[in-house]
Amino acid sequence: VPSTVERREEGSVVMGKVAVAFAAAAVLVSCSVAAVMVGRRIKSRAKWRAVVEILKELEEACDTPVGRLRQVVDAMAVEMHAGLASEGGSKLKMLLTFVHHLPNGTEKGTYYALHLGGTYFRILRVHLGGERSYLDVQDVERHPIPSHLMDSTSEVLFNFLAFSMERFIEKEGKESNSQGVKRELAFTFSFPVKHSSISSGVLIKWTKGFEISEMVGKDVAECLQGAMNRRGLDIHVAALVNDTVGALSLGYYHDPDTVVAVVFGTGSNACYLERTDAIIKSQGLLTTSGSMVVNMEWGNFWSSHLPRTSYDIDLDAESSNPNDMGFEKMIAGLYLGDIVRRVIRHMSQVSDIFGPTSSMLSEPYVLRTNSVSAMHEDDTPELQQVARILKDLGKLEEASLTCEMNKQVSDVPLKVRKLVVKICDVVTRRAGRLAAAGIAGILKKVGRDGSGGITSGRSRSEMRMQKRTVVAVEGGLYMNYTMFREYMEEALVEILGEEVSQYVVVKAMEDGSSIGSALLVASLQS
Ligand code: ADP
Ligand code: MG
Repeated sequence: VPSTVERREEGSVVMGKVAVAFAAAAVLVSCSVAAVMVGRRIKSRAKWRAVVEILKELEEACDTPVGRLRQVVDAMAVEMHAGLASEGGSKLKMLLTFVHHLPNGTEKGTYYALHLGGTYFRILRVHLGGERSYLDVQDVERHPIPSHLMDSTSEVLFNFLAFSMERFIEKEGKESNSQGVKRELAFTFSFPVKHSSISSGVLIKWTKGFEISEMVGKDVAECLQGAMNRRGLDIHVAALVNDTVGALSLGYYHDPDTVVAVVFGTGSNACYLERTDAIIKSQGLLTTSGSMVVNMEWGNFWSSHLPRTSYDIDLDAESSNPNDMGFEKMIAGLYLGDIVRRVIRHMSQVSDIFGPTSSMLSEPYVLRTNSVSAMHEDDTPELQQVARILKDLGKLEEASLTCEMNKQVSDVPLKVRKLVVKICDVVTRRAGRLAAAGIAGILKKVGRDGSGGITSGRSRSEMRMQKRTVVAVEGGLYMNYTMFREYMEEALVEILGEEVSQYVVVKAMEDGSSIGSALLVASLQS
C-alpha cells in the first residue's frame, strides 16, 4: 500500500500530466482562435475597404462642382427654348396652362381646392375679404392617398375624390355661408396635362408611381366633375391647376415679384411666367395677353451633364416609368430614399456589416426619404436615430422570416452608422445642388440670372438691370428636409454669385399649391 506521501506524489504526477495536456490544448486552441481571428480581421478589413471604396465611387459619381452645375444651368435654359419652339422639341414639355393673370389680392369670396399630390390629397377652403391681408385658410384636410387607388381605375379614383369632397362639405354644417350657392372648386393636379383651357385638359402620362393606364388621354377636370355630379354635389370644377401653378399663384398674391415656382415633394416640377411671344409653338393661339404661366414638367429634364450613377440607372430601369422623369428621379422625395437604399444594399453585398437589415434592403422603396432625413440630421451622440431606423428595417425582415422569429436584432456598429449618414449626405447634396441648377436655368431663361439670358437682342441696359425676383417653393421635401434646403440655397448663391443672389429671394409656401389654386379660381371670378 503506498504511503500517503507516495500517493500524493503519484497524484501530483497525474495532475502534472493533465496540466501539461491542458496547457498544450490551451496553446493549440488559442493559436487556432488567434489564427481564425487574424484571418477574420484581415477578411473584415478587406470587406470594410471594399465598402469604403463603394462610398468613394459614389462621392465621385455624385460630384457637382459649380462648373458642372453651370453646364446644367445652360442645358436647362437651352431645353426650355427648345420646348417652347416646337411640340416635342425637347424632353421639357413646356406645357401651356392658359393662366394669363395671377391673383393680385383684390379677390373676394369663398373658394375650395382639392389637391391630388403624389402621396397626399388635400381639401381646403379659403375665404377672401378683398384685401391681400384678408386671406383666411379654413379646414385644411390632408390624407395619404390610399395606395390601392394608384393602380385602380379612373372611376375608382375619382369616386373616391368626390366622396372625400362630399364628406368635407357635410362637415361645414348648416351655417355655411355658401348654402344654396354653387361652390367653386380648383382641382390641383400634380401630373402632366395638355390643357385646352384653364378648366380642361387631358392627362399626358402618369408619374410618381401612379399606373391607371386607361386614364391617359382623358379630360381630368371632366372626370372629377362627372364623379361629383353623380353624387349630386353642387360643385363646379372651375380650374384644373398644376400644383406648381398653385404655388406661383400664392407667391404672386403675396408678392408680385414672384415669377417662378418650384415643388419638391414626392415628385418635382417647376413653372414660371413667360412672355407669350416667346412661346413660339403656339403663336396665333395666344394673342390676347402679354404673358402666360408655362408648366415646364421639369422632372423629365435630361442632360449628359447630370451626374448619373449606376444606382440611378437601376432605379430607373426597375421603376414603373423607365426612361422617363430622369431629373425627378435624382431630386425628388419619392426617389432619394431608394437611391440611398441601393447604395447600402450594394455595400451589404460585399460585406455583412448591416446584419439582418441586409435582405430587407432588396425591397424597393422600403427606405423612405423621411427616414433619410431623420438619419442625416441625427444629432444624438451615438447616432441613435440611425441605429433605430436600420434596426426597424432589420425587424421588418425578421417578421418576414418565420423560421427565425427569435433572432435578436442588434444595432449596427457606430462606424457603419456614420457611413450611412455619409451616404444620405452625398445623395441629398447632389439633389439639392441639381435643384439649384434647375432654378438658375429658369432664371437664366427669363433674364434674371444677371447674364441677360441666352437670347441675343436684349438691350445692354436691360442686361445690366437686375430686378428683384421671387421664387416660390413648396413641397414636403423642401419644407421638412433642412439639409436639402440648405444645400439648394447654398448652391444657388454659388451659381449666381453673391451680387445677383441678393436680388433672388426663395420663399417657402406652405400648402402653396392648394391655397394658390383656390386663389386662382377666385381671380377668374372677379
Ligand atoms: P405630395 O407630393 O403628395 O404633394 P408633399 O409635398 O407633402 O406631398 O411631399 C411629400 C413627400 O415629401 C414625401 O413623400 C417625402 O418624400 C417628402 N418628405 C416629407 N417629409 C419629409 C421629411 N421629413 N424628410 C424628407 N422628406 C420628406
Ligand atoms: Mg405636392
